[in-house]
Amino acid sequence: MAQLRRQSVGKQKVAVVTGGASGIGFEISSQFLSQGYQLAIVDHDAKALEKAQNMLAGDIGECMALVADVTNGAQLKNAFQQIRERLGTVDVLVNNAGISRDGRLVNMSEDDWDLVVNVNLKSQFLCCKEVVPDMIAGGYGRIINISSRAWLGGFGQANYSASKGGVVSLTRSLAIELAKDGITVNAIAPGIIDTPLLQSYSAETREKLAKTVPARRVGDPADVAQAVLFFASEQASYVTGQTLYVCGGRSLSSPSV
Ligand code: NAP
Repeated sequence: MAQLRRQSVGKQKVAVVTGGASGIGFEISSQFLSQGYQLAIVDHDAKALEKAQNMLAGDIGECMALVADVTNGAQLKNAFQQIRERLGTVDVLVNNAGISRDGRLVNMSEDDWDLVVNVNLKSQFLCCKEVVPDMIAGGYGRIINISSRAWLGGFGQANYSASKGGVVSLTRSLAIELAKDGITVNAIAPGIIDTPLLQSYSAETREKLAKTVPARRVGDPADVAQAVLFFASEQASYVTGQTLYVCGGRSLSSPSV
């Protein structure tokens, strides 16, 4: 017999997306709005954030925008406090903000290591700490961490791959810790996705990259956003600790480009 679960029914769900001003995070944000979520996006560039907020708000719905460096615990505390005051308890957290600073180990500086690990991994730990106490109190929550197919390993990506592998481990550990509280924690490992970063490459390079994908095309941010919506949904309430590849089959073939 179906058990009654404590969850935040009766109100629009509140979703927070880090790195929501660009690329995949922007698309996830747009999809949340069109699904009727109350939304807050967190990013570090005030101008980019304002532009995204205006584009998102348009005719779809209201979007709260907060400037914060996701590596800075104090800035995040302030941002999440504002979100709580205006929108209430966070139901869904998408830890999406991320960067890369590729280079062979011999050329990789300590700063390149620290920055990538802090933005891609430490930020997720910090954001989870901001929302989990309320989620436990409410007996409901969805945390979705953006990893990368590159967590499997990548040439010149020691810092990026390690940070994204850390995301998978963080996800699994928190899933075990929080399952009894009605909180699911899952990760998505995108392959090559068509974001501003990819668009900055030449058409030739993009074509070459597409050929490394079994599906013979790069992914669209919407491909990732759909997977996020699934993990955020009621239908995924019994799915936790998983990493879903959204990569056109690239995780199944040789990781070398
Ligand atoms: P993107 O277009 O650069 O978007 C990332 C957003 O995060 C940007 O607005 C970025 O700002 C922001 N950000 C960076 N550092 C931040 C910080 N310290 N504090 C707050 N915000 C910060 O990248 P994307 O391609 O959409 O990637 C989104 C996520 O997907 C990342 O975690 C990435 O690793 C992952 N991913 C992407 C791909 C792909 O092919 N695109 C593949 C696998 C995984 P700036 O623009 O100022 O840096």
